[in-house]
Amino acid sequence: MATQPRLNKYAVVTFLFAIAATKAASNKIPDDGASWWSHVATLADDGMEGRNAGSPGHHRAAKYIADKFKQAGLKPGGVGGYLQPVAFNSLRIVEEESSLELVRDGVATKLTLGKEAYMSSRVRPAPTVEAPMVFVAYGLQIPEFKRDDLAGLDLKGKIAVYLSTGPPGLPGAISAHSQSAAERWKSLKAAGAVGSAALSVASAESVGWARASQARLQPSMYLTAPGFNDQVGHNIAITINRDYSEIFFDGSGHTWAEITAAHRDGKPLPTFPLTCSIRAKAKTETKPVKSENVIAVLQGTDPRLRKEIVVLSAHMDHLGVNPALKDDPIFNGAMDNASGVAALLEIASRLGSAPSRPKRTVVFAAVTGEEKGLLGSRYFANHPSVKGTIVADLNMDMFMPIHKLESVVVLGIEESTLADAIGQSAREAGLKILPDPAPQQRRFIRSDQYSFIMAGIPSAAFKFGYEKGSPEEKLQAEWLAKRYHAPSDDLSQPVDKPGAARFCDFLGRAAELVANQPERPRWREESFFKRFERRK
Ligand SMILES: [Zn+2]
Repeated sequence: MATQPRLNKYAVVTFLFAIAATKAASNKIPDDGASWWSHVATLADDGMEGRNAGSPGHHRAAKYIADKFKQAGLKPGGVGGYLQPVAFNSLRIVEEESSLELVRDGVATKLTLGKEAYMSSRVRPAPTVEAPMVFVAYGLQIPEFKRDDLAGLDLKGKIAVYLSTGPPGLPGAISAHSQSAAERWKSLKAAGAVGSAALSVASAESVGWARASQARLQPSMYLTAPGFNDQVGHNIAITINRDYSEIFFDGSGHTWAEITAAHRDGKPLPTFPLTCSIRAKAKTETKPVKSENVIAVLQGTDPRLRKEIVVLSAHMDHLGVNPALKDDPIFNGAMDNASGVAALLEIASRLGSAPSRPKRTVVFAAVTGEEKGLLGSRYFANHPSVKGTIVADLNMDMFMPIHKLESVVVLGIEESTLADAIGQSAREAGLKILPDPAPQQRRFIRSDQYSFIMAGIPSAAFKFGYEKGSPEEKLQAEWLAKRYHAPSDDLSQPVDKPGAARFCDFLGRAAELVANQPERPRWREESFFKRFERRK
């Protein structure tokens, strides 16, 4: 996909700014989706430089969003304005001064970083690590389902080598939760491990090796506020290229081919020590980085219920610029997630100008640092800059309006009473609610709703729906393969704008219904996620 000439894009944007201003003034969501698209076009323009958290482009996007909230008649909900500052440290692994070796029978084989494997900067690596490797199947402990992959294993001082997916047959949300970085590390650490190495199977990969490996070069970010480091003691995290996984199993009595076949067939996986160790040296570089969430408030009308807050969230950050990509270095992030922020702005405009306001307070949160590990939302959910109690989160991330809208997928719908309001809105809009067609993609924990879930708040996330085996499923899969986290997620891709506008209607109405329902949303008694509730 070729990029458009830069000068043209800028001219288009100036024009779209003008259109956006006119549309906001009329306070209507047009059915053709032009207003929604005008926000996408601005946020995903090359001038926003891929909105990397902490970058000037991200800051420009934040100011645009704050302006639109103001035009929609919403009150500032940040600190002294619409912005809530969020402080980070960035961490980069200096690969030229770092190394990874596979040691077997005293012989060390150098692994080329980015080819056979790489060290993840999502954990803060220790300067040196040397430790034997143990294969731990999926590395999961889920007592409710009597699953303990670590039973009988000696992991003290070892690197746990795990399959970066879950076994078939577990409910999607629970499987996703137990595979989160925090949960997996909690189990591995308690069993004595000092590091981890992830093996991947094709069916669970969201990007191929080339894109994942290239992404490793971007610095990771960490919240500086206390209480957010869930990777303490994780001295090294290695990601292994699927094409080279077999070498780690040499001499173990098992093969990678055998493991992947067992996983595919849903058979139990063996656990066993490998015959090799990892010897690693890591040089890191850290820097302070400032970024921001943009928070706006639509005050509720009911004197009692307005103390309860319904959050609508969408992340505004994306992956920035990679100068090594000569043809098109900018990650515009049109679907990921200018689309979601644009929906947030459309819903803000709609609810802000509605003749009657909802009873509960609705807070609009455009958050930073999602691509760095859901950090802006995590900060907001734990340090809200608004007064009141957050009782629900409805999140939009890559809702994928790339074909006709006939149905929606609502991640987490079976977990809470949010289902009532969401179901009603879907019925009114003539939309079917379909089950998650791709639970192995773990989407329930891969966006900002998860920050709220972990803070005990009933949450749901929304996508365009599609049936299994349909042409739409194929389109979605092709999109993931070609454009997800690639520079081609830009403004030149085909998008169903009227469908996106209808989706905004559906979601805005769902938010309104949640904000007006007599009872505060709650987790269902049988929900796995009820355990994270904090009584206030
Ligand atoms: Zn993303």
